[in-house]
Amino acid sequence: MSLKGKVAFVTGSTSGIGLAIARQMAKAGADITINGFGEATAIEAERQAIEKDFGVRCVFAEADVTKPEAMDAAIRLVEGQLGAVDILVNNAGIQYVAAAQDFPVEKWSKIIDINLSGVFYGIRAALPGMQKRGFGRIINIASAHGLVASVHKAAYVAAKHGVVGLTKVVALENARENITCNAICPGWVLTPLVQKQIDDRAAASGKSVEEETVALVSEKQPNARFAKPEEIGALAVFLCSEEARGITGTSQVIDGGWTAQ
Ligand code: NAD
Repeated sequence: MSLKGKVAFVTGSTSGIGLAIARQMAKAGADITINGFGEATAIEAERQAIEKDFGVRCVFAEADVTKPEAMDAAIRLVEGQLGAVDILVNNAGIQYVAAAQDFPVEKWSKIIDINLSGVFYGIRAALPGMQKRGFGRIINIASAHGLVASVHKAAYVAAKHGVVGLTKVVALENARENITCNAICPGWVLTPLVQKQIDDRAAASGKSVEEETVALVSEKQPNARFAKPEEIGALAVFLCSEEARGITGTSQVIDGGWTAQ
């Protein structure tokens, strides 16, 4: 599957799933923009590793996805430096866990800002260039929680359901433009975002981290295994291909059977 000649912008790609998607797209030949928070020297090392490992161009665009002006500026910067943004992966996301009545209002707002509004800000910044060039692939990293709920995840579940809805609207509005918009809905993927939930469970239950790791994945996923970030990246690469141009407005699940129940 070749993405040679394409330019991808992956939000939240300094860690976890986003970094794996960026690397899979670079492996397929796309030039890459990485984005997200972290230590400057670590980000620079990742940027250089992508260029060295895959022989593509890779730039870092510093932008908080909750700031529409910053996202506009980042997309314009990449269009200037790499010539286009053909592929946008809205991946940046955070989690916070509490019962609805105890959910801190500031945590609610932050999750909605990053996990939902951030997706909209990326899309509105990238779409005009895609429409002008007659090609675009937008992939929104939603979640199994975009389709079903779990307790104590009010903001996350609300935001991810919102992402699935937004994905459908953008797909419809651009259906004749050779621009597709799809959501990927992973189940559990072992990244820092999930490790924190496991550590919190172990602290609360007094059980070991290993026991809570097995319990967390088994209680939701019939296949009882974490997906690897690279598996999400491989699906994202396929959705960007010419062969996937008929796939739009969908939610692609990689959840080991979670939402089949
Ligand atoms: P992670 O914590 O490893 O990575 C999150 C990334 O988002 C980091 O690069 C971080 O710097 C970036 N980020 C956070 N706030 C940002 C902001 N305001 N602006 C720009 N970047 C920001 O998490 P992950 O597990 O890799 O999650 C990535 C996405 O996948 C999220 O949207 C998450 O909801 C989704 N997801 C994860 C899982 C899982 O099991 N890990 C399952 C389903 C969906």
